[in-house]
Amino acid sequence: LYVEHPLGGGQSVPLEKGQAHYLFGVMRQTVDDDVLLFNGQDGEWRATIAEAGKRGGTLICAAQTAPLRMPPDLWLMFAPIKKARTDFIVEKATEMGATRIIPVMTEFTNAGRVQRDRLQAHAIEAAEQCGGTFVPEVAEAVKLDRLLDGWDTARQIMFCDEALAGADAGLPTSSELVAPWAILIGPEGGFSERERTRLDKLEHAHAVTLGPRILRADTAAVAAMTVWQQALGD
Ligand code: SAM
Repeated sequence: LYVEHPLGGGQSVPLEKGQAHYLFGVMRQTVDDDVLLFNGQDGEWRATIAEAGKRGGTLICAAQTAPLRMPPDLWLMFAPIKKARTDFIVEKATEMGATRIIPVMTEFTNAGRVQRDRLQAHAIEAAEQCGGTFVPEVAEAVKLDRLLDGWDTARQIMFCDEALAGADAGLPTSSELVAPWAILIGPEGGFSERERTRLDKLEHAHAVTLGPRILRADTAAVAAMTVWQQALGD
């Protein structure tokens, strides 16, 4: 269970109404039962239920069961698409170990308002489901140009460019490039020529193909993370 509270030996952890409903109502846990907790910072802890009520409860941390497992530093930046597909991207990126997820508004992005809190809740659920001890932060949506204006050039960009489909453009595997990375996936309409030219001029951006077929953006996000993990991740 994910909690927004420090974890440590003997630490008492309060539960909110929603968590109490889930734990005591849905999962049928009760006083003296053990629960595994994580908060994205202190690893995983076994905690015992001390109080169980309808509106809340209290857990007491007993012992750490796993240290914090930080995945390699990889951001996923993607142009938001339809709601359900955007949710899918956030869920899969969390499962695959993205450290930060950034919705990026490109010229051809055609999506409604991005609800950051909803997407963050999806990331928490995905981390709970896959037994991770880390939850990626979902950032506020940002325009691609603004993002690139303030870019820290020490971070390499894996720019997934559908225009290269079928070309021989893979991810660099040189050991010098085991730096922080960010994957960039475009919207259903792809990147504009102006965006492509800007990205192509950046020394720290590497245009990469994901194969000869044009993938849907959600498929491309999962494929790109897999390619990166295979080449540079652990
Ligand atoms: N409208 C575009 C077209 O028909 O050329 C397709 C855009 S595609 C649905 C969405 C995004 O997925 C692209 O902007 C790109 O980032 C990524 N993508 C899809 N297929 C790819 C491929 N074969 N190689 C690299 N990136 C790909």
